[in-house]
Amino acid sequence: MSFKTIIEPFKIKSVEPIKVTTEVERKNYLVNAFFNPFLLQADHVMIDFLTDSGTSAMSAAQWAGVMLGDEAYAGSRSWLHMERVVKALTHCEYILPTHQGRAAERILYSHLGGKGKTFISNTHFDTTRANIEFSGAEAIDIPIKESKIPSFDYPFKGNLDVEKLEKLIVEQGAKNVAAVILTVTNNSGGGQPVSLANAKAVSAICRKHRVLLILDCCRVAENAYFIKHREEEFSKLSYYEIAQEMFKLCDGAVMSAKKDALVNMGGFLALKDKTLADACKSLLIITEGFATYGGLSGRDMEAIAIGLQEVFEPDYLKYRIRSVTYLGEKMHQLGVPLMLPIGGHAVYVDARAMYPHIPVEEYPGQTLVCDLYHYGGIRAVEVGSVMFGKYDDDKKLIPAPNDLVRLAIPRRVYTQSHIEYVIEVFQKILNEKEKSKGFYIIEEPLFLRHFTAKFERVE
Ligand SMILES: *Cc1c(COP(=O)(O)O)cnc(C)c1O
Repeated sequence: MSFKTIIEPFKIKSVEPIKVTTEVERKNYLVNAFFNPFLLQADHVMIDFLTDSGTSAMSAAQWAGVMLGDEAYAGSRSWLHMERVVKALTHCEYILPTHQGRAAERILYSHLGGKGKTFISNTHFDTTRANIEFSGAEAIDIPIKESKIPSFDYPFKGNLDVEKLEKLIVEQGAKNVAAVILTVTNNSGGGQPVSLANAKAVSAICRKHRVLLILDCCRVAENAYFIKHREEEFSKLSYYEIAQEMFKLCDGAVMSAKKDALVNMGGFLALKDKTLADACKSLLIITEGFATYGGLSGRDMEAIAIGLQEVFEPDYLKYRIRSVTYLGEKMHQLGVPLMLPIGGHAVYVDARAMYPHIPVEEYPGQTLVCDLYHYGGIRAVEVGSVMFGKYDDDKKLIPAPNDLVRLAIPRRVYTQSHIEYVIEVFQKILNEKEKSKGFYIIEEPLFLRHFTAKFERVE
């Protein structure tokens, strides 16, 4: 017989205390942080959903690996372990360790990019786009049209629009397309999966036009979960085999190990072509470190080797995806407007729909992140007009297409009761939301203003 409750498939050996704060204390902390949760001290946060990146809890096996880490400058045992594990998974002959995902991106995309070059993706993650644009190249996103309607339920909302892809390659000229980048899962929108059928179609077009296909594989295990359960044809394969199928279609991969490798720091670049790998290796040695450690300690590489295997364990993945979905489903039942379906690593709330009385110019997403902290000590991130808004010539705000708030769930960190608490806080916010006010910005930097902007409440 099978039970409804999915238990966390781990016991807790080491705990990190959470300082329980009161609403009065949080009110002060929020004022001192100028109503920007990025300016809060982490110690004043009870449930931190700012990001799932680098926030995983490592297993006992990984911590044991940390002690076994070999810190040799060249040819470290821990490097050989990591290389073996990454090679087996990715089918790539050439593996370069890097200190995190963006270092792998910078090396590969600065080499392939430059003026006149184009990169095409289902969606470029922000560091990916930044590295491409910094090289002088152009980054074009072509997600399927179903992905553009937040409430539209579709099983593979992360897919790339293959019709547009072929047209774009022809338009741009295949030799000007530096690479196609398939991001799995698609981070924007909370980790919407890409189907294996879509990856195969993308790969066929790339092969036909001889365009390089790179997998941004940060969440390839979470993506494999969705394929196994939503794509009938592949339901007999293991999660690991599904991921391998995906790598077979590509010419290489970049990974931030801070996601599905279950570590706090690390990444890699994996390539099949020797000439390309040699060029990247030179850049790696100049800026990151020697080719057998990149920017990593031996102990980090040991932990990555172990985490990259643990992440494919069926009990773990089921718990991981189901617990994120559970939070989303409960919020949906309460009537919180959400991005659907729930993705692999985060729940997105449509704050504009949640606070219809707050005009877009007063940042409804900021209202929700402040309410979450005020009522519950929960930290989330605004992904809307604070993050992406621009000004026109008259200094009037050009809002982002949506005002969303992301709750990104760290891996293996919070238990069911933490999640139940978050649901209760949302009920409270819904009850009180008519009283909530918007915000205006009193100070902001020129770039990436969401990190440091200061706000005042509209009265
Ligand atoms: C996090 C992330 C990156 C960048 O990795 P860092 O380790 O943060 O540098 C690139 N692509 C995707 C899809 C990501 O989620």
